Amino acid sequence: DIQLQSISKRFGEVEVIPDLDLTIPDGQVTVLLGPSGCGKSTLLRMIAGLETPSGGDIRVGGRVVNDVPPADRGCALVFQNYALYPHKTVRQNLAFPLRMAKVSSEEQQRSVTQIATTLELTPLLDRYPRQLSGGQRQRVAMGRAMIRKPEVFLYDEPLSNLDLELRVRLRLEIARMQRQLKATAVYVTHDQTEAMTLADQIVVLRKGRIEQVGAPLELYRSPANLFVAGFIGTPR
Ligand code: ATP
Ligand code: MG
Repeated sequence: DIQLQSISKRFGEVEVIPDLDLTIPDGQVTVLLGPSGCGKSTLLRMIAGLETPSGGDIRVGGRVVNDVPPADRGCALVFQNYALYPHKTVRQNLAFPLRMAKVSSEEQQRSVTQIATTLELTPLLDRYPRQLSGGQRQRVAMGRAMIRKPEVFLYDEPLSNLDLELRVRLRLEIARMQRQLKATAVYVTHDQTEAMTLADQIVVLRKGRIEQVGAPLELYRSPANLFVAGFIGTPR
């Protein structure tokens, strides 16, 4: 599991996360849910190694990883602002992480074919990013993150720029993929439906503090306070 122990984070004078403890179980989807500015991305970036905690420890499988660089943490990041290589085709974008890892070209092709099928990208493999819609680009970015079958997936509102239909479809796709891979995932969102559909565990955050942790139904049935009820209880 991933353990956050007495984690704090300040940017200059501003304390964004005062003191946070959280355990993220293996093989489950943990959703971080909360309003804009509550510290969701900051937490995710600390797990990824892109931000250093001001205090406290991050442990993965018991080992402190505070000083482990992002590339060595076995985490795949799926961001809200996905960036593809503009001068590479979809196929090359998807294969890129494998190429960097010196995977054989047959194995690259096999993985690309498989992931393209899953994400319905097969007809687009030879196009360039500028020839794709936003949703298609996002799927390529997801495929690129997934292709090395990482142990931990970190999602930062990966569906936030998409239209409703695509959002629903990709949400189901992520759910299916997570069940299949049984990978550990941390999924940041402020969308209640996404949280309810995807989460094994939901962490409700407010101003860098945890308001409640629990299974979706648990939070739905017995919210700890009005803030949690406002996020979980009433469909928006
Ligand atoms: P959103 O839902 O809008 O993405 P969030 O919950 O992901 O919000 P964070 O991005 O974690 O929020 O930001 C938490 C707080 O930390 C915000 O008040 C933000 O302005 C501040 N913050 C984040 N990054 C920095 C930075 N590099 N320098 C200064 N302040 C920062
Ligand atoms: Mg954010």
